[in-house]
Amino acid sequence: MTYPSLHMMIDGERVAGGGRQTHAVVNPSTSETIAELPLATDADLDRALDAARRGFRRWRDSTPQERAAVLHGAARLMLERQEEIARIATMEEGKTVAEARIEVLMTVGLFNFYAGEVFRLYGRTLVRPAGQRSTVTREPVGPVAAFAPWNFPIGNPGRKLGAPIAAGCSVIMKAAEETPASALAVLQCLLDAGLPGDVAQAVFGVPDQVSRHLLGSPIIRKLSFTGSTVIGKHLARLAADDCKRTTMELGGHGPVLVFDDADIDQALTTMAASKYRNAGQVCVSPTRFIVQENAFARFRDGFAERAGKIVVGDGLDPASAMGPMANARRPEAMDRLIGDATAKGARLHAGGARIGNRGFFYRPSVLSEVPLDAQVMNEEPFGPVALINPYPDEQAMIEEANRLPYGLAAYAWTSDAKRQRRIAREIETGMLGINTTMIGGADSPFGGVKWSGHGAEDGPEGVEACLVTKAVHEA
Ligand code: NAD
Repeated sequence: MTYPSLHMMIDGERVAGGGRQTHAVVNPSTSETIAELPLATDADLDRALDAARRGFRRWRDSTPQERAAVLHGAARLMLERQEEIARIATMEEGKTVAEARIEVLMTVGLFNFYAGEVFRLYGRTLVRPAGQRSTVTREPVGPVAAFAPWNFPIGNPGRKLGAPIAAGCSVIMKAAEETPASALAVLQCLLDAGLPGDVAQAVFGVPDQVSRHLLGSPIIRKLSFTGSTVIGKHLARLAADDCKRTTMELGGHGPVLVFDDADIDQALTTMAASKYRNAGQVCVSPTRFIVQENAFARFRDGFAERAGKIVVGDGLDPASAMGPMANARRPEAMDRLIGDATAKGARLHAGGARIGNRGFFYRPSVLSEVPLDAQVMNEEPFGPVALINPYPDEQAMIEEANRLPYGLAAYAWTSDAKRQRRIAREIETGMLGINTTMIGGADSPFGGVKWSGHGAEDGPEGVEACLVTKAVHEA
């Protein structure tokens, strides 16, 4: 299968070339350029804004049946195109095809869920004296600017497009320039299912130029961003200038509390698979393993053993369990973070080095006894490294889990039912998995607290985030 030629999708039209600046899309398994992506000019962005304004007027008046038909139809097309879309995602992001197929299924599930949710966007009628009427209705917020990152090249665009479409908004999506073809493939399914071209559009560009231009326009009424905390704060400030609504899915630093009463073998097998999924480039990745002293040596050794056995290779090769990192910045970050930690006294039990000199492959890595002042204990590593430290008791473990300003995903392994409830109450997080890593689903809110952002995607909350309320009082 060949990688497709690239374009933007503005007002239903494919926009390519024409003297525009381009961005080289690189296959992370080979470090070779596989396509050139046209980048938006200010005129392209103005055209997209104009179409979004028109698209909003049209789509806010669509019936739930029309919205559901588009979402169900797109889900069906995604299933039909699953293999092609998954392979495109692997070519531009690196993850294994098996992981990319799951991303397609995630998006299919989400579109189908939203197709049902559009019939449940209820308002309410208030109790008033005879002859008077007061109603509360929910309306689509307006045109949305949605910025999706590269780590889930199918799932992130699915979330960014699905919620506004279900709510009756129009949306201009800027997916990551590193992974444009997957995002375009998701959008194409929606358009082929009957979505008008001015309702959902895709632009690419110099990220700062695009975000300033779109957020600087009064046409855009909401920003939805997934990416790093640093960029998220910057974009939230831009959005604040025009009081735009925001949904921010930012970084995390997933704590994993492992108590000595847990099923340690199950915890090891489940968490090691989860840690190295997408080479650790997952915002809900388990990162800080906070292990009760009695279980520490067994957990550390078991984790290193499992990390050492992971087969790393081209994501298109069915033998690979972990692909390369997505871009050249990530192995550089791994070298820096692991180098800094070991210089400060951390012990390296597995990995800690790149693989070969072609592509961005990195060994599954394990560090233990990592000092709290090591950069990796404070900065999201976004890579295949597990940090495993011993702690004396539950109180110390909870304190470590809550030490950082992040609060996206957390995990706990314990068979003590009362402790499970204490942990659920005490951990500052948007999502918590107790004896599981399954912390999401089409029907469940996905989002964080503190520096991990605010608002949620998926579930009824995802659509809710694209709605505003209006109270009407009639005498
Ligand atoms: P980055 O902060 O430069 O970019 C993150 C994402 O934001 C990318 O998709 C990028 O295209 C986009 N972006 C950057 N500047 C933007 C702007 N001004 N306007 C709109 N979008 C903009 O970082 P990176 O090198 O791509 O990734 C590094 C870090 O980002 C990772 O270590 C991780 O912490 C974080 N990240 C988080 C997620 C997530 O799912 N929350 C996804 C990707 C990256």
